[in-house]
Amino acid sequence: MFKKSLLYLMMATLAITLLSACSESTNHSSGKSSDGKVQVVTTYSIVYDIVKNVGGDLVDIHSLAPIGSNPHEYDPLPEDVQKTTDADAVFYNGLNLEAGNAWFDDLMETTGKDGEDAPVFRMSEGVKPMYLTTEGNEGEEDPHAWLDVENGIKYAENARDGLIKVDPDNKEVYEKNAEDYIAKLEKLHDEAISEFNKIRKEQRVLVTSEGAFKYFSKAYGFQAEYIWEINQENQGTPEQITRIVDIINEKQIKGLFLETSIDPRSMEAVSSETGVDIMGEVFTDSLGEPGEDGDTYIDMMEWNINTIKEGLTH
Ligand SMILES: [Zn+2]
Repeated sequence: MFKKSLLYLMMATLAITLLSACSESTNHSSGKSSDGKVQVVTTYSIVYDIVKNVGGDLVDIHSLAPIGSNPHEYDPLPEDVQKTTDADAVFYNGLNLEAGNAWFDDLMETTGKDGEDAPVFRMSEGVKPMYLTTEGNEGEEDPHAWLDVENGIKYAENARDGLIKVDPDNKEVYEKNAEDYIAKLEKLHDEAISEFNKIRKEQRVLVTSEGAFKYFSKAYGFQAEYIWEINQENQGTPEQITRIVDIINEKQIKGLFLETSIDPRSMEAVSSETGVDIMGEVFTDSLGEPGEDGDTYIDMMEWNINTIKEGLTH
């Protein structure tokens, strides 16, 4: 009698184990984890925030390059590889951003997400690319499209379309979230135009460490100057410093700006050599830390609008 019930118990346990293993894998193949959320990986904080706004509570996001770091180059950790392997959807910027040490392509290959039908979505799909011009980089795409809010709207649309593709059951939720979010971005774009119109045209020259403001400058009527054109090796060489110092003196530029995700030393050297002050920090390749200024895409753009306006009209 005792033996029989033990056997029964063992069989029941085995059945439950098999059943739960089975239901987990069923859930996974339908694009959901066991908690019902779509498992998403994003390459850096700005893409994270835009996807979060469109996905809301339906998504669980793991973002790769940490806040405050430079997403041009990144070394994925074992946890990143695991989460990317398990992800139902991956969102990246494209336009050469994650190409610094080929980290993104390598990660897609390692995690088996390099196939044609892999659920990997490029946020900059549909953006008209701008190109680098400095020697050695000529003709390469400039990644910083999100600094023009109209491109940010395209990112939101691409986030929406990607999420619908992997989770079609919730199509209406993603459409509604995207619509609400895009309305806010349209307002932000209009605000940027009207605020920057308060700066005299000849004062609208933006000097930053990296030349991240090409799309921004085209959208909002600025001229963008920089120490180096794109983050890579050889940043802030004596030649680059001399070049920008000459430009600043020649154009009688009144204020410099420093990115939050870049080592300040080069810009500090330029400031001390020209006697022109650094007017403030701007967000380019990363959001601010959660709970601090610039911790969302909208917040970072508003911060930039105010800092640039104040810095150039003082
Ligand atoms: Zn950059």
